[in-house]
Amino acid sequence: MRLVADAMLGRLAKWLRALGYDTLYWRGDDAGLVRLTIAEDRLLLTRDTRLPSRLPAGRSLLIESDYYDEQLRQVVSRLGLPPRMGHRCMRCNLLLEPAAKAELRGRVPEFVWHQHDRFARCPGCFRIYWEGTHYARMMETLGRVAPMNIA
Ligand SMILES: [Zn+2]
Repeated sequence: MRLVADAMLGRLAKWLRALGYDTLYWRGDDAGLVRLTIAEDRLLLTRDTRLPSRLPAGRSLLIESDYYDEQLRQVVSRLGLPPRMGHRCMRCNLLLEPAAKAELRGRVPEFVWHQHDRFARCPGCFRIYWEGTHYARMMETLGRVAPMNIA
């Protein structure tokens, strides 16, 4: 299920991307958000109690908490985990691409380059990801929000 988060849910959108959910973050007006949700066949995540009534049934999820970790827990428990975890840029929502270690010397901190063998790059913003930070933080957050079997 592809998602779109309203303007109140920027932090949640980033974490959903980190988990691998295709998640747009909308900062425009309500009419545009409703149009986008329908046109792109997405599920709207919103804190606005009025918005769900403007969409067909089942096309929105009213987010209950103000706190992103509880919000994340609500989404994961409703939708289940995405099929591919941790493969999207937290900033751009694009799928990450594998990056060759040899090409990254000098582009990541030296100790990181030495400690890790697997890297990925966002094709949009060219941010480099490696398991040390992104992955560990994601798994830690996941452990808090979804204490189910995650090997
Ligand atoms: Zn990016």
